[in-house]
Amino acid sequence: MIRATDAEGWRARDLEVLWHPCTQMREHPDTLPLIPVAGGEGAWLLGRDGRRYLDAVSSWWTNLFGHAEPRIGAAIAAQARNLEQVILAGFSHAPAVELAEQLLAIAPREAGRAPLAKVFYADNGSAGVEVALKMAFHWFRNRGEDQRTKFVALANGYHGETLGALAVGDVPLYRRVYAPLLAECLFAPSPDAYLAEPGQSPEDCARRAAEALDALLQAHAGEVCAFILEPLVQCAGGMRMHHPLYLRLARDLCDAHGVMMIADEIAVGFGRTGTLFACEQAPAGGIQPDLLCLSKGLTGGFLPLAAALATQSIYEGFLDDSRERAFLHSHSYTGNPLACAAALAALSIFGSDDVLARNRATAARMAALAAPLGSHRHVADLRQTGMIVAFELARDGKRATPFDPGSRVGLRAYRAGLDRGVVLRPLGDILYWMPPYCIDDAQLELLATVTAEVIDEATACA
Ligand SMILES: *Cc1c(COP(=O)(O)O)cnc(C)c1O
Repeated sequence: MIRATDAEGWRARDLEVLWHPCTQMREHPDTLPLIPVAGGEGAWLLGRDGRRYLDAVSSWWTNLFGHAEPRIGAAIAAQARNLEQVILAGFSHAPAVELAEQLLAIAPREAGRAPLAKVFYADNGSAGVEVALKMAFHWFRNRGEDQRTKFVALANGYHGETLGALAVGDVPLYRRVYAPLLAECLFAPSPDAYLAEPGQSPEDCARRAAEALDALLQAHAGEVCAFILEPLVQCAGGMRMHHPLYLRLARDLCDAHGVMMIADEIAVGFGRTGTLFACEQAPAGGIQPDLLCLSKGLTGGFLPLAAALATQSIYEGFLDDSRERAFLHSHSYTGNPLACAAALAALSIFGSDDVLARNRATAARMAALAAPLGSHRHVADLRQTGMIVAFELARDGKRATPFDPGSRVGLRAYRAGLDRGVVLRPLGDILYWMPPYCIDDAQLELLATVTAEVIDEATACA
């Protein structure tokens, strides 16, 4: 196992003072490697130990065009020489305005529906979700519909770690201990195609889940303000994927029940699924949510920033003589100019580099390289949406028998990957590829070879 040298002492210094996210700190450094990074270059992370690590998870799904992408770095540097930060209440600046204009211009649109018309900034994904939840709730209050206090979310969904976002998430590992603190949320079954019964198609799963959503909204008529979902891929829930038909059915149900639809595209937005936004893939020309949450790739993975996009009608629901009816939510760094400049640079790369076409070609290459692994006896499911490929590992290759959690198959695979210079950070026993868009053929081949080896190694002794 990787126990790279710590000649410079960074690992020791780190463990003396840092408390890392999403980590049982007790596992560092013996069970769980801790890798000091000196730099990044395209799809590579450069370890201080002189080794290179292929960043197959895009540094928690944030990175789009590679590490240290020079155009984004230059845009941030130029902005920093001019204006680093200004209060966004009572003041304005060009990067915030231009970014809002551009986001609204590219946001998902649906014929016959008033477009998303206003951008509210926050500084991380969870905060962006909080904004959308609070807006939905407050909008109905302002209309005197005080009984609409509940949210509906999907089983196995994930929307972040702050208490409001956690309340609408359903990954037990993150949620369970905090349950007493969380706002009331109703969970509808996930359209997850992996949960199909024998003979059921992904469309059948979508229809069945939509029927359950309908029944839930019916049973709680007048009590629900919004329905929130991750379109196409429930990422933190294990890269579980559903048929785009569900988006259409859910959109129609939200309309029928007078409930707002919040699309959380924090992980899947900006080209990850093959279209700029996942909502575009819904049948009949795509769907448009009432509120759209963006973050992660928004700045190309350079700086924390989030945006909640809202319709004009939501915005107007807060216009009044009273301050209490206003949406007073704020963060110190709301609309930070450096982050907005990074986002503008990232969007301009979409314009200049034909990113979506390249992604489609890369996704096809990923499919071809992943296919042989699908017949591995411990790969219960191989699934893909655009530039996300997931390998569900199980004991007998049939979804019925997962590995004993105690055998830590995913963790073994992770360590085996690092030994070979590839970051395959798992979700439980699910391995996935979600690389920066700049990944090239040779890197993809390395990724596929290493994935095959680590699946063998991690499952051999389980
Ligand atoms: C990562 C994520 C969030 C939370 O974003 P943070 O910046 O980590 O707070 C919310 N929703 C989805 C779908 C995510 O993947």
